[in-house]
Amino acid sequence: MLDLAALKNLLAQPQKIVITTHHKPDGDAMGSSLGLYNYLIQQGHHAKVITPTDYPDFLSWMPGNEEVIIFTEQTAQSAALIADADLIFCLDFNALGRINEMGVLVGESPAYKIMIDHHLEPEDFDDYRHWNINACATAQLIYDFIVNELHHSELINKDVATCLYTGIMTDSASFRLPNTTSAVHRIVAELIDAGAVNWRIHELVYNSASESRLRFLGHCLANCLEVLPEYNTAIIAVGKHDLEKFDVDTGDTEGIVNYALSIASIRLAAFIVERKDKVKLSLRSKGEFPANEIVKKYFSGGGHRNAAGGHSNDSLEQVVQQFKLILPEYKKLLIQ
Ligand code: 5GP
Ligand code: MN
Repeated sequence: MLDLAALKNLLAQPQKIVITTHHKPDGDAMGSSLGLYNYLIQQGHHAKVITPTDYPDFLSWMPGNEEVIIFTEQTAQSAALIADADLIFCLDFNALGRINEMGVLVGESPAYKIMIDHHLEPEDFDDYRHWNINACATAQLIYDFIVNELHHSELINKDVATCLYTGIMTDSASFRLPNTTSAVHRIVAELIDAGAVNWRIHELVYNSASESRLRFLGHCLANCLEVLPEYNTAIIAVGKHDLEKFDVDTGDTEGIVNYALSIASIRLAAFIVERKDKVKLSLRSKGEFPANEIVKKYFSGGGHRNAAGGHSNDSLEQVVQQFKLILPEYKKLLIQ
């Protein structure tokens, strides 16, 4: 185990550092990883961000992105960096299974593991933990770590601020979710003062879709949406042929579930998609409804109360059927 003083001592000298985050990184995963990266390189550390898989184009503009290594594409180099690291920062995840095959390599590496995360029920693989489930984003915790634990607010430069803003913006659904507290808005104000150009970041993330993404969204809403009024639940289920037909890329499905949740009466929305090797579920809920309980119990998943995900090896039809069969168990919570 490391305490804060020992970690500070280590970070006082240049170290070999790997920063990693979860499979199919989202805005918070990339924003917190590159935010920390841009902080560490200012102090002469040899830092590398390694992602377990690729990530969408709308996240590949952040400062430092050109230095990111994707494990599935540069496996040998990634493995060597992980084995040789002094420190490994594990951001926006807390179970080694979330980084696929990289999990074994990270587990075996002699490096100190530092977990910075806001998901429930962390596994016990880390040496130092900055963990708070009330944080709206891991990027918020990176800010807190740099400013309040390492006392380096002067190192929150434009690059760090830009990445952390992106993480907070995306994970709070553009400052809408209940955990977007006044403290979050104060941090965001600091990030804008430090150089994050808020309107530009919104443009880059939300107004950079392809035409095929928009046509695919139209298809989902017109042909794949099923509303179950008796359960205040809406489902969008999409087969793999549709993904091919609409030339759907990594990230093109992001956010579609929110359209189902935008119907006034709906408390639970599910986006169920047939990927190459498995069926993936994305759940979103309003208020107190615990979306993460459903995926944890039935679909090998996890996440937060209002945003959770999981997967299954059954067929798309079976998963949709199973999901519907689960709803009576939650009827009381759904219709209150
Ligand atoms: P999304 O629906 O955007 O894929 O994921 C929403 C939230 O659920 C994210 O916080 C993500 O980390 C979590 N999540 C998604 N899929 C999984 C999964 O398979 N396992 C676990 N533990 N969490 C997941
Ligand atoms: Mn997050």
